[in-house]
Amino acid sequence: MKNAYLGLGSNMGDKKRYLYDAVQMLNHHEGIRIINSSSLYETMPWGYVDQDIFMNLVIQIETSLSPEELLDVCQSIENRLGRVREVKWGPRVIDVDILLYEDQNLITDRLIIPHPHMINRDFVMIPLSEISPQLVIKGKTAIEWAQTFNLDALKKLSNK
Ligand code: AMP
Repeated sequence: MKNAYLGLGSNMGDKKRYLYDAVQMLNHHEGIRIINSSSLYETMPWGYVDQDIFMNLVIQIETSLSPEELLDVCQSIENRLGRVREVKWGPRVIDVDILLYEDQNLITDRLIIPHPHMINRDFVMIPLSEISPQLVIKGKTAIEWAQTFNLDALKKLSNK
């Protein structure tokens, strides 16, 4: 089994429900086991800012799937939950990204791992630091990355 981290976000409709459904779908997959989950966070939009606030969380999984197979599962969940997206970084029902897969560095046509934007995103690094504070990403621990952000931009909605 391989260790991986996924980042989930939603900013349309019943966001909490979409996130919950996506986590359930991941957990029901025979090649995926969720071993830890961050709290749920409410965050300001990133990129295209004229849109509703986001809800985000990060989960840690064990998986027998390859990175490409895991991406297929993430994308099929996005499709099944009816992702509607017309603007890059615009509104979406659900977004499921692979953040990390073991300590692999991977660049293919479909995948970049570690996720190229993760270290710039408070809504990834703060939840990640909650579940794996000492995990090292690009030379710094998750908690060190988290401390580079203004913590007020994120509101913790619930403990797990
Ligand atoms: P996004 O719109 O941010 O969800 O990006 C989706 C696209 O990013 C898809 O075409 C994926 O093939 C590509 N992609 C590259 N790296 C990753 C990653 N680490 N996790 C998820 N999608 C990725």
